[in-house]
Amino acid sequence: MSGEIKSAAKKQPVPINRTSEIIKSRSKLPIIGEEQVIMEAISENDVIIVVGETGSGKTTQVPQFLYEAGYSNGNKLIGVTEPRRIAAISVSQRVAEELNETSDIVSYLIRFEGNAGPNTKIKFMTDGVLLKEIQNDFLLKNYSAIILDEAHERRVFSDILIGILSRIVRLRQKRANPLKLIIMSATLKVDDFSKNQKLFPQPPPIIELSSRQFPVTIHFNKKTPHDYLDEAYKKIYKIHSNLPAGAILVFLTGKLEVKQLVSKLRKAFPYRETDSKIGVNTKCKAEKKKEIGKPLPEINLDDYDIEMHSEDELILSENSSADEDDDDDDEVPSKIMKFSSSPLWVLPLYSMLPAHKQSKIFEPPPPGCRMCVVSTNVAELSLTIPNVKYVVDCGKTKIREYDPLTSVSRFSVVWESKASANQRAGRAGRTSPGHCYRSYPSLFSSALFNDEFPEWNLPEIQTTPIDNVILQMKSMKIDKITSFPFPTPPDKQTILGAENRLVTLGALEVDKNVAEINNITPLGKSMAAFPLSPHYAKMLCLSKDRSLLQYMLFIISAMSVQEYLPGDNVEAWKKTKLSWANKGEFLLLGDLMVILRSMGGASHAMKKSGLGGLQDYCTKTGLHKKSILEAWKLNNQLINQLNINVPSLKLNTDLDMTPPTPIQVKQIRQIVLAGMLDRVARRLTTNELNRNGIRPNKAAYYASNLTEIVYIHNSSVLKKSKPEWLIYQEIFQVQDKMYIKGLTAIEPEWLPVYANRLCKTLKVLDDPTPRYDEETEKMFCTVNATYGQAGWSLPQAEI
Ligand code: ADP
Ligand code: MG
Repeated sequence: MSGEIKSAAKKQPVPINRTSEIIKSRSKLPIIGEEQVIMEAISENDVIIVVGETGSGKTTQVPQFLYEAGYSNGNKLIGVTEPRRIAAISVSQRVAEELNETSDIVSYLIRFEGNAGPNTKIKFMTDGVLLKEIQNDFLLKNYSAIILDEAHERRVFSDILIGILSRIVRLRQKRANPLKLIIMSATLKVDDFSKNQKLFPQPPPIIELSSRQFPVTIHFNKKTPHDYLDEAYKKIYKIHSNLPAGAILVFLTGKLEVKQLVSKLRKAFPYRETDSKIGVNTKCKAEKKKEIGKPLPEINLDDYDIEMHSEDELILSENSSADEDDDDDDEVPSKIMKFSSSPLWVLPLYSMLPAHKQSKIFEPPPPGCRMCVVSTNVAELSLTIPNVKYVVDCGKTKIREYDPLTSVSRFSVVWESKASANQRAGRAGRTSPGHCYRSYPSLFSSALFNDEFPEWNLPEIQTTPIDNVILQMKSMKIDKITSFPFPTPPDKQTILGAENRLVTLGALEVDKNVAEINNITPLGKSMAAFPLSPHYAKMLCLSKDRSLLQYMLFIISAMSVQEYLPGDNVEAWKKTKLSWANKGEFLLLGDLMVILRSMGGASHAMKKSGLGGLQDYCTKTGLHKKSILEAWKLNNQLINQLNINVPSLKLNTDLDMTPPTPIQVKQIRQIVLAGMLDRVARRLTTNELNRNGIRPNKAAYYASNLTEIVYIHNSSVLKKSKPEWLIYQEIFQVQDKMYIKGLTAIEPEWLPVYANRLCKTLKVLDDPTPRYDEETEKMFCTVNATYGQAGWSLPQAEI
């Protein structure tokens, strides 16, 4: 550390008018005692790292320290980046409250909304928003400090931000107003930042906050449950019925599960709004006294006498006091109040939850009720819920996996890392000794936990496709990706592979003057605006016509949702599918026609009779309602994005869709080809079938980037008709056979036009003679060409 204090000496402290309540709650945070240490380190260094457990006060307090010390004086901003939208909103509100300031001064900005304005002094934003701001002002001249929060999560965008900010800090060093960078992490695993010479030649100082953690007793399950959702439900049921007061925090893997469990719990332990409206809930109060009156010692629920009754038993033993709404649901009915002493105040928590609902976790539950928050891993690191005494951990987490073979990424549920397991358990010991119940067996725990659970979560940049990231970086004018200071660099081949694919797509072009440099094209720039895989982004950019755009939006949003189709009614779905893509052009569009019709039909049903209408429609057709809703949400998000980028388009989110005309279908197929030009499949000829010993009726194909033979999957509507040339969305392996699905038929003579980067023109023919097209004012000539590395010969085509 250099001893001199230059710029900080000039800064005038800003007086703050905090309420006594806030002063009291702040004084309890471990970070408060470290304010001076932190501020001195910031004034003496351009970059510092602050490490402290979740709940120690990093996110809410460090921005206030800077503000109070005058870092926002002279029209400068203090920027704070959060990986999640939910945290950006909630923390900006909290910090405004603590500083006794309005949302004018302490604001947030996330992708489609925000309240930041000209008076803003502290700005909370998502990583993506700051990246976009850097594209417009590389030196971030309006900022005096950037706080990069939750750096330990190792999200791709935050990794890249650290790389870029390390350069910006250096560029601003010599100027009158240097930029300060504060990297905050909840875990001590910060070597990738601190010891990375390429990133910071001088290792930045690390300030470690003391933790105030009460002991948490860990309880393991007897066996790994078949259904962890059900297991979590039973655990909560037992805790609530038998254990002393204290909030319960449940970790599940995804939003849909959170919703399911919340509704199940609310049915089992009902709470009436009216009770809280009049302020007193007499029953609750009485129950509360009873609860508090019988404090229980440390208890392992699994040793506990009262075993959970089977649901049937509970219903049978119920004497008919028909007080609650009597539905014949298969869940534990609301009537079993003799076990469940008091109502449970059940709150969901996931990142897409609207802000006003999400902030409920910080409010005390209604009198006498126990709070139970059912959360995704949002509550693991970025939000601290007050008074949690019991944590129920399903042990799993949802990750995005990337398969380089098919270039397809998918979400899958895997065992959490040990770091995550400890972090989740720690949530129970913030205010008093707590308990954590894990949904896997203690008997094998050492084996399972030690062998199967990874130590840390891998940085996202090593587990997701980086094509989109590279495109984003190129659109920020970062030319040579291979020399970019990534905290953990992807290997060079991965980067070059991604760049090559982007060149093939037409998003980048090779710079002939400089080796190894690919420049972004105008098409690439437009593509970079969408949070989609580049293949899909290109399709959107090519859908110039407004009605085509609406169709493509439906197709792309549905394709971007994992396991989009179908529901449980397999027979209904089979019928529906075939009737939707039965003949002519509709059959040629194949599986994408099915997707299009399903989205169109569902949106029509929803518009006419709401969610009930959608449910009926899904039951009738065999569609999966949840995935439709997911796709629908993405569709609306993309429409918002398009309306921001191209205001003149004025796309409508509730449009009634008519089926496309044959001409439109043809255009859609061509756009799909242009976007997926590297996923072409060609049917084996009779000779090739013979040679490979495959029966003649088999739907066997060569795929453009594989040597193995692939087969049309049973789910495809094109399985029967077996078009000669296809585009596929996905290749996957079952045992030793490869399958393709998500198919659309194309015409081979389109390839030289829409996939020209993968075609080789062998010869331009004199006969027929070149033709002049009046409408497009272009010359067309006929060529002989081949496609791909294997050199599949194509019929004569006009280009
Ligand atoms: P860290 O970033 O170190 O995890 P935070 O600054 O997020 O810690 O949290 C510090 C304290 O502030 C926690 O006890 C948390 O419960 C409280 N807190 C955070 N946000 C809010 C809010 N919106 N309302 C009330 N309390 C909050
Ligand atoms: Mg935090």
